[in-house]
Amino acid sequence: MNFCSSCGSKVTLLIPAGDNRHRFVCDECGIIHYQNPNVVTGCIPEWGDKILLCKRAIEPKYGSWTLPAGFMENGESSMLGAAREAMEEANAELRDMKLFSVFSIPHINQVYTMYRGVLHKGMASPGDESLEVRLVAENEVPWDDLSFPVIIETLKLYYEDRKSGNYSTHYGEIIRLDQKTIHVEHY
Ligand SMILES: [Zn+2]
Repeated sequence: MNFCSSCGSKVTLLIPAGDNRHRFVCDECGIIHYQNPNVVTGCIPEWGDKILLCKRAIEPKYGSWTLPAGFMENGESSMLGAAREAMEEANAELRDMKLFSVFSIPHINQVYTMYRGVLHKGMASPGDESLEVRLVAENEVPWDDLSFPVIIETLKLYYEDRKSGNYSTHYGEIIRLDQKTIHVEHY
């Protein structure tokens, strides 16, 4: 951040009085520009023994497979945000949604909330951000071609729960140890 979004003057990174972290503070009007994590919200659309995956038509990870998910908007709940993303990315209407997982991802300052939901009438088609959508059985999941570690973790947990016949709500943290290594902590 270089300039104040309120008055256009230069900002300086400093620890404001009474704070304990560096913030961008406007040299002119004194506004403190707090930066906080973003919530990404998404879902696992279920239809019988299949789930809906989307092939990404956008970067990052163009062409990889993913679950419908995206940044939560102001003025909506995380659950309705997940339903909105399913509609935008896959023209998929979800019913009976239940919170499935919450993952913190500190190195990219994101929190993922993922819901399970029934795909209404099993109907879906690609939205603007998807090249293709597909209903897949467990043995058809393209594990090596999934978009992000959080999606892989969510689906692993989903199939473990489904096998046991008992769905619970999961909470964890996805930690990047180095360029190649991701560590997942479950609580
Ligand atoms: Zn300012």
